[in-house]
Amino acid sequence: MRHRFTRPAGRIALTYLVIALLWIAFSDRAAEALFSDSQLLNRTQTLKGALFVLATALLLYALMHRTLHRIEVAVLEDSLTGLPNRLAFTRELTLRCKTGLARDQRFTVTLMDIDHFTDLNDEQGHSRGDELLILVGRQLRRLLNKDWYIAHIGGDEFGLLSPSGLSIQETRERLDWLQNRVMRSHNNDLMLSQTLSAGSCEFPKDARTDRDMMRQADMALSRAKHQGRDRHSFYHEELKRTLLERLSLAKDLRDAVEREAFTLVYQPQWSVSTTQWVGAEVLVRWHHPDRGWVPPDQFIALAEREGMIHRVTKCVVEKALAELKQAGLGRDALPSLSINLSHLTLLDTNTMTLLRHLIDQRSNTLPKVMFEITETATMENLDRTLSAMQSWRQRGVDFSIDDFGTGYSSLSRLKLLPLKELKIDRSFIMDLPGDQNDAVITQAILAMAKTLSLNVVAEGVETREQSDFLRAHGCNIMQGYYYAKPMPIQELNVLLTQAANTPVR
Ligand code: C2E
Ligand code: CA
Ligand code: CA
Repeated sequence: MRHRFTRPAGRIALTYLVIALLWIAFSDRAAEALFSDSQLLNRTQTLKGALFVLATALLLYALMHRTLHRIEVAVLEDSLTGLPNRLAFTRELTLRCKTGLARDQRFTVTLMDIDHFTDLNDEQGHSRGDELLILVGRQLRRLLNKDWYIAHIGGDEFGLLSPSGLSIQETRERLDWLQNRVMRSHNNDLMLSQTLSAGSCEFPKDARTDRDMMRQADMALSRAKHQGRDRHSFYHEELKRTLLERLSLAKDLRDAVEREAFTLVYQPQWSVSTTQWVGAEVLVRWHHPDRGWVPPDQFIALAEREGMIHRVTKCVVEKALAELKQAGLGRDALPSLSINLSHLTLLDTNTMTLLRHLIDQRSNTLPKVMFEITETATMENLDRTLSAMQSWRQRGVDFSIDDFGTGYSSLSRLKLLPLKELKIDRSFIMDLPGDQNDAVITQAILAMAKTLSLNVVAEGVETREQSDFLRAHGCNIMQGYYYAKPMPIQELNVLLTQAANTPVR
């Protein structure tokens, strides 16, 4: 393989050698035959030598030029899209930063990134991913005029440099427009099914060196992703502060994961039909040395983004099982234990194998495990979620759809999943029974759950009125402050023991 590109070198040298030897042999003879005068012959020989050197020089130039040009193309061009690659982009940016300062020019750097590109690659294969990258590259070329510098800087990321003649306002408008158009202006299913996010920063307002420009644009891109993707965001100073804050929180979270410094609380679930505690949901807590209690809503999302969620989940499962064992809480006292599972973890085979071992070891004595997965996450990745769920169902683990009502799942898709339970999101319960909309939605969810023979848990039940309304419409399991707040295992133990001794509440 290594010789494939250099093989012509031997051929070229050999051809040159043969031609040169033939030339020397025959041209000498021809000159001798033509000129008998020794002075004329000498001059002819000199002229012949000079011609030979000239021809060799031209040949050398042509060969070197072609080779160096090919090398340059190979080094600076992205072979997939035909656009300049990262190296070319960085060189151009460095140059623009240098000349920009000297000539007082302004321009913007934009980084664009296809949302959920890894999912597309995983689900539809790399060739589909490549196809999309080529289409996006072409589309950018088509939508922007040639004054824009467009590069494919690696993976699913594209880099743009705006022409320096454009005003900042025009550039901003153009970029917002572009972000919105790239995927939607082409009647192609693959493109229409995807979105992209973009982040930009301005020279010299936001940064003055190539590295800083790239960093600030990257921060702006992170913000666009963080705000829900499919948008364009500009760098500003405030952003730097929030990002630094997030980085520092991420660092502390990494420490906490390392030390497994999490606490667990359990929120029991009450069945209004049997008047018994039928299960509990385990909820993780993180006590930060300076910030105090950081709500899981903040750090779970962070753990997901920073690739730490699997370890958090493992820690929660291990700890919960150990605490239940130590408290002597078995299936009689607590029939079911709900564990929140990030869809990322559900799709991660290694962690799931590990959890399987942990749960299998104690499956007889333990409350039955139920994994709660949010509705949106489930629907985003239906095929893979489905097969992961099926393999867990065979091992006696149930599934519940968390925060139900906030996503857009259809009955036909829900029917596909091996589910045991739906949890109606707290936002629908909150204003019951007064809010007409919420009342209708809740009733619809309950009717749908009945059709699919699913249990329903109402979460965030805070008042007697809410509970009565839910019960009247067929919801029997309640979780919320009205019944019990999340509590440490010792308190849960006391609560369950008391309940066992008091037959009817
Ligand atoms: P969630 O799964 O929807 O959990 C229910 C949240 O509602 C909990 O908040 C709980 O304390 C709160 N809650 C329960 N009853 C009431 C009520 O009557 N009124 C009000 N206002 N709130 C109530 P928490 O513990 O802050 O958890 C927030 C979210 O963090 C959870 O929402 C869940 O999505 C996530 N989370 C918590 N623990 C874990 C975990 O171990 N793993 C993962 N992946 N996510 C977790
Ligand atoms: Ca939950
Ligand atoms: Ca929930």
